Amino acid sequence: MIPARPVLRRLAQPLARPARCNGIRSFTTASTRPSAAAAAVQPQQQFDQPPFPIPGPVPVRQEPPIQAINTKNTLRDAVAATQPRNDWTRDEIAAIYGHPLMDLVHQASLVHRRFHNPAEVQLCTLMNIKPYFKTGGCTEDCSYCAQATRYQKGTGLQAKKVESVESVLEAARTAKANGSTRFCMGAAWRDMRGRKNSLRNIAEMIKGVRALGMEACVTLGMIDSEQAKELKAAGLTAYNHNVDTSREFYPSIISTRTYDERLQTLSHVRDAGINVCSGGILGLGETSTDRVGLLHTVSTLPKHPESFPVNALVPIKGTPLGDREPIDFTSMLRTIATARIIMPATIVRIAAGRKTMSEEKQALCFMAGANAIFTGEKMLTTECNGWDEDQVMFDRWGLEPMKSFDKSPPPTIS
Ligand code: SF4
Repeated sequence: MIPARPVLRRLAQPLARPARCNGIRSFTTASTRPSAAAAAVQPQQQFDQPPFPIPGPVPVRQEPPIQAINTKNTLRDAVAATQPRNDWTRDEIAAIYGHPLMDLVHQASLVHRRFHNPAEVQLCTLMNIKPYFKTGGCTEDCSYCAQATRYQKGTGLQAKKVESVESVLEAARTAKANGSTRFCMGAAWRDMRGRKNSLRNIAEMIKGVRALGMEACVTLGMIDSEQAKELKAAGLTAYNHNVDTSREFYPSIISTRTYDERLQTLSHVRDAGINVCSGGILGLGETSTDRVGLLHTVSTLPKHPESFPVNALVPIKGTPLGDREPIDFTSMLRTIATARIIMPATIVRIAAGRKTMSEEKQALCFMAGANAIFTGEKMLTTECNGWDEDQVMFDRWGLEPMKSFDKSPPPTIS
């Protein structure tokens, strides 16, 4: 039983009563996003075709206060669990998320030590393979993304050079030599329809990465079941497709594809026997309720994602979220700790935005259960901490790179 239920409801369900959200009623529908010029026409058709209208501003939602509430029973049961469960309620997750922060981190670290070796952190390198295909920007309107064609006038981002399969594999070899055990390849597409040749080439990249003894991950937008099977046949380890935020806030961030379409891709990936990597972005203007909603979505999937990336928005000038204030660190830490507790066996990944975090903040995230980072020269279009810098940090804090497909058993706790 969860105590202080009225308080929890306020934390968990204000979206059911939009009038309580500081008068921002329209955030629950995609209709907030199209520009004034687009308002009179079918928004979906407009967004799918050039000249790609620029969406209207993304609202910042009012943050409900986090209250110190008696969450002992929910938290105690969650921390004592010996295996993952996927029947979490939003109230339960809100109770854990809202627990006093220092104790929340402590409890998460206990779970972490039971399911993982806390000294091990996986190093992953992410490469933008899109230039290989020379197809220009992406037709989607994700408000945070510099690769969306419609924002390129403001961002000025251009494809730099044409990559080859060999140059991708060369980058993978460099990543391996620097300690990375997972190599992720990202291409900015809405989906893989009509991209048979591209898929064949990506399969070659996957095979090459796997031949190096590395885990291979790709992020290619939406895929269907046949495409998922082809990727599986090539040896793909994991497919990344983030749900980004809560179901309710999502339409304020992206209008060109739905939350359910994202879940459908995750389902194809899972059914093909590929590990699911799916997480979110913090700092979009969401509330703690939305972060609880995000956690609820992924923790109630038929199987927990093998990997849960937690991104802090890196505002990119020229995108609709280019002037967002950074997410406060405590919200990041709460999200990581809660993810560790409710998805104990999942790899929790600190993704974009780590560059802005001090070493001490990163250490707190590792304490709270994060056990993977992106490292290397660049993360798609944003800056990334380098291998040398991360090695020094690992030495200082007694951490070591996780081996590929081989998590060491957690130490015995007496
Ligand atoms: S996040 Fe992906 S789908 Fe969205 S605009 Fe960027 S590249 Fe396209």
